[in-house]
Amino acid sequence: MCRDISLEENELSYLVTEMETSYVRLPKNQHYHGWVIVFLKRHASELYELKDKERDEYMKEVSRVAEAVNDVFGAVKMHYLSFGSLCPHLHFHVIPRQIEDDPHHAIKMDEAERFLSEEEYANILERLREAINMKRDG
Ligand SMILES: [Zn+2]
Repeated sequence: MCRDISLEENELSYLVTEMETSYVRLPKNQHYHGWVIVFLKRHASELYELKDKERDEYMKEVSRVAEAVNDVFGAVKMHYLSFGSLCPHLHFHVIPRQIEDDPHHAIKMDEAERFLSEEEYANILERLREAINMKRDG
């Protein structure tokens, strides 16, 4: 898992972009439309293992990505999830929730699968890259 997070494409996701402390990835399973994952580049399991400077930068990047996801997909509320029970490498799921989503329905990452065409992935990747770039150093 750790070595796969920098790949342009791996079994589960595409690389959206590389930031200072993180790799931003788009899961192929877009059951949650607009779902992206922000992986810490280096291996760590817990937020408290990071030095303040690195953690501040990483959280800033998570926030920038969330804002970019909001720009591209819109959201009534952004969800941030970090479990790490299956992959103990620090990462945050960023999921834009929509008005039609039941707020009482707990998110379960593997509850359903929805795969897109290559054109749809390419389109989403391009829009996300553009939106994230606009947030950089902003
Ligand atoms: Zn790792």
